[in-house]
Amino acid sequence: MDRRRVVEADLLIEGGRIAAIGPRLRRPAGAELIDCRGRAVLPGLVQAHVHLCQVLFRNQADGLPLLDWLRRRIWPLEAAHDARSLRFSARLGIAELLLGGTTAVLDMGTVHHTEELFLAAEESGLRYTGGKALMDRGERVPRALREDAETALAEARELGRRWHGAAEGRLRHALCPRFVLSCGEPLLREVAALASREGWIVHSHASEHPEETAVVRRLLGEDNAAYYHRLGIRGPHVVLAHCVHLTRREMGLLASAGTHAVHCPGANLKLGSGVAPLPELRRRRVNLAIGGDGAPCNNTLDVFREMRLAATLHLPRFGPTSVRPAEVLEMATIGGARALGLAREIGSLVPGKRADVVVVDLRAPHLSPRGDDLHATLVYGARASDVTDVFVDGRRLVAAGELRTLDAQGLARDAHAEAKRVARRAGLA
Ligand SMILES: [Zn+2]
Repeated sequence: MDRRRVVEADLLIEGGRIAAIGPRLRRPAGAELIDCRGRAVLPGLVQAHVHLCQVLFRNQADGLPLLDWLRRRIWPLEAAHDARSLRFSARLGIAELLLGGTTAVLDMGTVHHTEELFLAAEESGLRYTGGKALMDRGERVPRALREDAETALAEARELGRRWHGAAEGRLRHALCPRFVLSCGEPLLREVAALASREGWIVHSHASEHPEETAVVRRLLGEDNAAYYHRLGIRGPHVVLAHCVHLTRREMGLLASAGTHAVHCPGANLKLGSGVAPLPELRRRRVNLAIGGDGAPCNNTLDVFREMRLAATLHLPRFGPTSVRPAEVLEMATIGGARALGLAREIGSLVPGKRADVVVVDLRAPHLSPRGDDLHATLVYGARASDVTDVFVDGRRLVAAGELRTLDAQGLARDAHAEAKRVARRAGLA
């Protein structure tokens, strides 16, 4: 089933794992039965680049290019977060993600209160890998977000010790240097060393916007991904978001090192950043994952929209068959699992793997009539709201469209007032 087969079968979950897949399985005594006729059962969807800390800033930063978006809105707002608003933001984001079928994320936090992100992930049941944003320099970075490298890394080490492997392995720690423009070289070298010592993922942004790429080239005489590669930030434990403006040489470096790229088409369009060379990266066998990025630069974390964009955006340039729906679904499942270093545990429906499973209702008018290609039906037409049931580690977190672990409606109701409080503290309201 790593080969993206579609089968009509029962799926048995036992002890948090997929126990069996096959026609008419025998139901063990006491097992709960969920009738999925008319629905599709998929591996849990993975978003390998999100910012739960920014979800509360949705609809508060429209119409700006990347660097202005950061300097004028996002950094001041992140700097104004307290523990309570950060926890709220994470819960709101997780509610959206789980209800829409995303079961695992790679998340970049902000600088402070990072434990709130882990706590929210812990209580919600989401499979979470993340860490604090590391920032020790940068033009117009607010003082509250700038730390010296030693302080930043000491806290990251502490977070790793406390959270990596928590909740029976569901929570994991990542080192998150924000991007080249906010990190000095000694910090980045230490990140590379620490990651290989501790076995933590390194997650960063690279070559997202032409202005950012031009500034990096002017300051360092080198491009983002090439610079990271030279400093040792490369390999199967490194996940770079965006990769829109890569040189050919950089694509070769990602491929040869096994560094992962996360395609974020929604955010790349909305910030006017550009279009990543997806078919070319695929041709070079760079592993690709999908991510919604930040709620204020997308403005949705609906992975189905992201899949539709990935499956259609590149066709005018590369041709109508250059990106197949099944390949996009692969990016959002096993591709994301590989980026997270979890391909043996999640990302496909295989007996023995953890039961991260999503059920999608196919009976809505907008999905009818069904074609022969279920992958195409899902990628071109399905929506987050078509998800009915979501399991992580075999635990039913969403049941018949209702999130069991968080008060989704209450979070949506209170979000405006909570966002206003942060904006006032930031001097933006
Ligand atoms: Zn991002």
